[in-house]
Order: sequence, then structure tokens, then C-alpha cells
Amino acid sequence: MCPFKGLTRLSPRLCRGSFNLLQLFRSKNKELGVDYLYDEVMGLKYKGNKIHSALLKNNDLIHGEAFINAAGPKASRIASMAGIQLPVESRKRCVFVFHCRDEIQGCPLVVDSSGVYFRPEGENFICGVSPGEENDPQCFDYEVDYNLFNETIWPILAHRVPAFESIKQVNAWAGHYAYNLLDQNVILGSHPQIDNLYFANGFSGHGLQQAPAVGRALSEQIVHGRYRSLDLSIFDFDRILKNAPIKELNVI
Ligand SMILES: Cc1cc2nc3c(=O)[nH]c(=O)nc-3n(C[C@H](O)[C@H](O)[C@H](O)COP(=O)(O)OP(=O)(O)OC[C@H]3O[C@@H](n4cnc5c(N)ncnc54)[C@H](O)[C@@H]3O)c2cc1C
Repeated sequence: MCPFKGLTRLSPRLCRGSFNLLQLFRSKNKELGVDYLYDEVMGLKYKGNKIHSALLKNNDLIHGEAFINAAGPKASRIASMAGIQLPVESRKRCVFVFHCRDEIQGCPLVVDSSGVYFRPEGENFICGVSPGEENDPQCFDYEVDYNLFNETIWPILAHRVPAFESIKQVNAWAGHYAYNLLDQNVILGSHPQIDNLYFANGFSGHGLQQAPAVGRALSEQIVHGRYRSLDLSIFDFDRILKNAPIKELNVI
């Protein structure tokens, strides 16, 4: 089960870049024998302690030897089909694009001590901040919270970089983090009780950069029954059962 359906909302520029990358991955995958199909997983069917097939919305059954939950912010819904509680929720994150009249040469990605971040993006800059826990409910809409920019982000930008006092906000979008409530780190690998169910969930905003390692690690687990190149067992599902967080402190 590899549920590719829809794309995370990104800026037009990022979307073009990501789309090219996706196309590249997709054509290589096809060359290697991957079949893509577009449907929705509605349920899982068992034989003993193994998943035997996934039931699709069009009533087809997909049979398989191994099933990976890669459903992003909807991962807990897939897990619940297997009777498993997964502490992953959808959390909205807004990204704002702004233009600055003054040229700022060599500006790196900057993360302010408040958590506000900014970096150049073409001729403009992008910025954002994660809201405090009290203002960060489970969320499935894509409405941009412009107050976040006006009231929280802009004053901090202007304090940090004087030239940002007179910026113009020119674009914005919202997307969803698959937020791991326990420790904001990925839940990776097989499930202790269900032999052929694997997780790649709860990336909490850093899944793109971890994707190549995650892909390799999971394929090693599935094909060889263990990690070979990188031991990623600290991210096992077990830590959820043991309530043993590996706290990620640098989520922006
Ligand atoms: C604003 C924003 C900024 C980010 N910035 C960064 C960054 O700078 N660096 C970084 O590394 N990461 C970043 N991320 C995080 C990164 O985008 C995610 O970690 C990554 O996209 C997760 O990939 P995924 O494949 O696990 O999930 P997704 O990309 O969410 O894909 C899940 C897929 O599962 C499908 N699906 C769900 N349920 C079902 C079902 N029942 N049946 C079939 N299909 C289903 C969905 O339609 C979707 O296509 C950012 C995220 C956001 C929102």
C-alpha cells in the first residue's frame, strides 16, 4: 500500500521544483516495476496476525506481502483500521512570502530564538513560525492565518533585520504537518504484533529531508528483515508503547 494521492500544498515555485522531483522519482520507480494507482484505502483485511489486503473505495482489494502506512497527516486513520492508536495528528503550518526593497546579500536560513524562521526564496523571502501549543489544534483546512504574520512574525522580523521593517507580504499558503504528539519524530518500521505492517509516520515537518534514509531503511527491513546501512531502531513503534520519547527540539 503506497497511498500517493494529492500533493502537499506548496508555493508555485516550490511546487514546480517538487513536481519535477516527483516526476523524476516516479519515472525511475516505474522503470523498476512500481505500479501507481489512485484510490482511497478504506479498510484492511487480515489472515492470522498478518494483513492480507487493503480494501479500496472502489471495492477492489489490493493483496500484498508488506503494507506501509505512509498516509501523512491521516496516518492515524489508517492505523485505526488495524486497531492501532497512532499519536499522529494534522497540524496547520502557514508559510508567508514577502518582498524586501533592500537587497540583503548572502542571507542564510535564519531561525530566531522565538522560533520565527526566514530565508531567501528567489527574489523574495519566505518565513513562518509554529504556533504555541495552546493555539495549535488538530486541523484539516487550508485557510491561511494572516494574523500570525501581522501580529507575531512581522514584529520579530523587523526586530531581527531592520530592512524588514518595510516589507510587503506578497503570497502565502498553508499545509499540514503529520505531527507526532509524543516527540515530534518519525515512527518508523514494523509493528511488534502485526508482522507485515510498517510505519513511516509522524514526520512533524521534517519528512522531505529524511525521505531518502526512510525509504532505504524500510526497504531493508522489508527485504532483509533488519536495518543494514543505518540502524534506525530508536524510531521503532515500541517507543510509543513504552511512552519513551526521543524529543526533537528543532522543529520549526
Ligand atoms: C508548510 C510546510 C513546510 C514544510 N517544510 C519542510 C522542510 O523544510 N523540510 C522537510 O524536510 N520537510 C518539510 N515539511 C514536511 C514534509 O512536507 C512532510 O514531512 C512530508 O511531505 C511527509 O511526506 P509523507 O509522504 O509522509 O506524507 P504526505 O506527503 O502527506 O503524503 C501522504 C499521502 O497519503 C495519502 N493518503 C492519506 N490517506 C489515504 C488513504 N486512506 N488512502 C490513500 N491515500 C491516502 C494522501 O492523499 C497523501 O498523498 C513541511 C511541511 C509543511 C506543511
